[in-house]
Amino acid sequence: MTDFMICPVCQNCNLSESSDTQYYLCPSCGCESARDMTARPAQDYSDVEWYGFRWEFGVVAEHIRGCSGTILEIGCGEGYFARCLPSTANYFGVDFNVKAISAALEHFSTRAGGFYFSTDMPNISEEVQALCMFHVVEHIPRLREKLDDLICTYRPRLIAISVPNPNRLTVMQGVREAWDYPPHHLYRFTHHGVKKLFASLGYMLAHVESEPLGKDELREVLINRFRWKRKWAKRLSSLEEIFPTCLLPRSGQASLFIFRRVWESS
Ligand SMILES: [Zn+2]
Repeated sequence: MTDFMICPVCQNCNLSESSDTQYYLCPSCGCESARDMTARPAQDYSDVEWYGFRWEFGVVAEHIRGCSGTILEIGCGEGYFARCLPSTANYFGVDFNVKAISAALEHFSTRAGGFYFSTDMPNISEEVQALCMFHVVEHIPRLREKLDDLICTYRPRLIAISVPNPNRLTVMQGVREAWDYPPHHLYRFTHHGVKKLFASLGYMLAHVESEPLGKDELREVLINRFRWKRKWAKRLSSLEEIFPTCLLPRSGQASLFIFRRVWESS
């Protein structure tokens, strides 16, 4: 075990074997850490990464509506979350993918107001209202140090993160997606683990929610578990067109957590 092999949640070095040979398991919080902590090369992201609207963008935009402070997003991609924010927002988006930042800048070039995108971390003098990281934390080696640095530098009042839903249909049915392995995902978090991690950093849970089941997860399960032909599964339309969202099980791709700084809420 290398010096990386420590649970980022519990800082526990006594990790055990996991049922997946590419990870170690923390018996205390249930989180898995990759045996090989080599992050995916940055170039891969500009070659193949998918960007688009995600379910959690709308939930967070609604949650922080009316906030007047600065919103900082790490891993902003082409700026799809920023597109959900009101034009009056004061927003900084950061991503190491140069191509994605160019696309975001181009999209926002005609919009007035405070939307900034960069490949470099910004200097923000006042404390940040909301720090947002969607599908980011599971990619970061030495995660705890990075979170400590971010919190110390930007002093966010709220932190919104999404991670792959550990209870999504695909995982429950034993057809885990190819992207949920190293070097893509260096950690697999449990809900309990995420709450414990941010509690230890001085943040209390304000909101947690998992994404309603989507057609992509259902397709994967129908093809790989129930041996549907791919062309049949492809005909499956958006589940929201068939069922009201409130009837869909919360076994979709993402779990969203919003945390509030503890010394704010007392
Ligand atoms: Zn742990």
